[in-house]
Amino acid sequence: MTQPLFGLVEAGGTKFVLGIATEKDEVIATARIPTTSPAATLGAMVAWFKEQSFLHGPLTAIGIASFGPLQLDPAAADWGHITSTPKAGWSGADLVGPLKAQFDCPVAIDTDVNGAALAEHRWGAAKGQRVAIYLTIGTGIGGGCVVDGKLLHGVSHPEMGHVRVARHPLDTNFAGTCSYHTDCLEGLASGPAIIARWGQSLSQLAADHPAQEIIAWYLAQAVCTLQAIFEPGRIIFGGGVMGTPAMLDRVRATAAELGNGYFVTKPAEIVVLPGLGDRAGLLGALALAQDLIA
Ligand code: ZN
Repeated sequence: MTQPLFGLVEAGGTKFVLGIATEKDEVIATARIPTTSPAATLGAMVAWFKEQSFLHGPLTAIGIASFGPLQLDPAAADWGHITSTPKAGWSGADLVGPLKAQFDCPVAIDTDVNGAALAEHRWGAAKGQRVAIYLTIGTGIGGGCVVDGKLLHGVSHPEMGHVRVARHPLDTNFAGTCSYHTDCLEGLASGPAIIARWGQSLSQLAADHPAQEIIAWYLAQAVCTLQAIFEPGRIIFGGGVMGTPAMLDRVRATAAELGNGYFVTKPAEIVVLPGLGDRAGLLGALALAQDLIA
């Protein structure tokens, strides 16, 4: 009997990373394709999987961890499509259809951040936790929640980047970068929101620049909100902004202050950096594919 073989897709706004993994969680081949037009990028993706399938055998399941927003309602006619995105040409793009048309295997799709949450729970910083959250703080802010090994979905995927936050007293004049909300986490604490105010990333700004405290304060509010709703065993902070020296410690300390000792969970213990680094995307796709045949 042939061993299971998984096709992996980490679909990003600038590149698609593709992979083939064995049942032992080993990624045995990878490829990168620039994200240009849906026709060109998805065509190249299908061609690569055909070639890999010829080399290694038929695919058992394919997992896609993608930028969004995505239609994830399995009953919807456009399940597996990107819904509306500012990325030119990609609104309405069908990510699943081209694979389904060529490969006789099930295909799973979820957001990249949900994939990362699942992968961190299976192999990384949230292993063994009943409830874990993964937040990415980068070009945008997004979050995924794993409960008892499964991703939490509502009618759609969570939109944790758009929780409202209270303004820092030193940050009252900035309009925010979210075009929907003036005072949401993404609009005030994402990479573009930092550049829009101070012209540089946090890691380029001095350690004693007020921006450090302001951004830590917003992220700490997210910690307290998530503690209040979930009391999670881990809140993993990924993304470029968290590469800023000392930001993790600042967020932990400020969250402890804001929480004021009320929550059972302690920020110093539950707020952590990712365990899988930049492998979380592709491993997220693997976790999604594995769950199709579990
Ligand atoms: Zn928003």
